[in-house]
Amino acid sequence: MNLLHLADGFRNRFKAEPRVFRAPGRVNLIGEHTDYNDGFVMPAAIHFATYVAVNERDDASVSVYSHTLREAFEFDLTRPGRFGGWRDYVAGTAYALQERGVKLAGANLYIDSDVPLGAGVSSSAALEVATAHALLSVAGANVDPLLIALACQRAENEYVGVRSGIMDQFVSCFGQQNHALMIDCRTLDYEALPLPPGVVLVVCNTMVKHELTGGEYNERRADCEEGSRLLGVAALRDVTLDDLRERGGTLPERVYRRCRHVVTENARVELAADAVRKHDCSRFGELMYESHRSLREDYEVTCDELDLMVDLAREVRGVYGARMTGGGFGGCTINLLAVDAVERFQRSVSDGYRARTGIQPMLYVTGAHDGAGEIVLAG
Ligand code: ADP
Ligand code: MG
Repeated sequence: MNLLHLADGFRNRFKAEPRVFRAPGRVNLIGEHTDYNDGFVMPAAIHFATYVAVNERDDASVSVYSHTLREAFEFDLTRPGRFGGWRDYVAGTAYALQERGVKLAGANLYIDSDVPLGAGVSSSAALEVATAHALLSVAGANVDPLLIALACQRAENEYVGVRSGIMDQFVSCFGQQNHALMIDCRTLDYEALPLPPGVVLVVCNTMVKHELTGGEYNERRADCEEGSRLLGVAALRDVTLDDLRERGGTLPERVYRRCRHVVTENARVELAADAVRKHDCSRFGELMYESHRSLREDYEVTCDELDLMVDLAREVRGVYGARMTGGGFGGCTINLLAVDAVERFQRSVSDGYRARTGIQPMLYVTGAHDGAGEIVLAG
């Protein structure tokens, strides 16, 4: 991101000096579809981020421009409502903060981002969290980052209308350089786990997004809710694999498989955390492949392109593990590999994917980065 262009864009539009806040996108290393089951996830914040330049206004309006989309709108802090599309991520964040008792002030926001939109690396959370930081700064409010994450999640749930878990906003707030975060989505406790030296993360974008019937995400959630109801627990987090083997016989077959994914995936996150602590990349990688298999066979949220991307990665020397990441049905895979395998990996996976699908994939080499904060402009 060119911060000088961002600041100039702001000055031209709003005739004032801005402060600039940044919030990163994320990639989930392991623990997929576990967050809304009160389970464990292990994301890292990535280097792609959304930037919001901001200054204060003397009324209760927020004037917003997204340079990414070349669109503007304005909303009134005293009149919560819905605006449609990307606007609700921004306005919803303001309203959700106010609902949690934060007093906001009018502001001008100039937004730009290098997080790919809709690719599964959470440009939405990056937008919400960067917006929250910008609005809080002009309001002079000092707010617990956990409250920020929860308000941003609420914006997405209540104003945008997506029933997402807390992971994306949480890691965008709390991410740490060179660390993955293992988050307990029930208690919101987390542990920062240092990534082993000499490894990189590569996100591979399949460039496809299958819409299917649209309600797939909510259907998976409904299956999980039915499973936990039939098993008599508050959430699938409370079920062990032994419980499931003993008592799962009464579940409808599909619900059983959905539950088996969640239960085994939670166990894999804990095993993966052990592997990271021991710097055992091979073990971590095996768990990633296992996760992908479970998402394909039991949770049924992969697609041919994701499966192909993982198979191509597996053939490259120096790759420890690969799996789909994000909601599924397209989007991205996450790959853990040795630094010296990066070039080989990029060539072989790009060529292989293009040859088989006719689509040029996007590969992003990244590491783990810090969560949201202010950027001090030089000069
Ligand atoms: P993901 O979070 O995986 O990128 P989502 O569908 O959850 O995908 O969020 C993408 C949406 O977030 C975009 O379609 C847009 O509405 C909004 N968005 C994200 N970044 C920006 C931005 N810089 N400017 C305007 N809208 C954005
Ligand atoms: Mg999102």
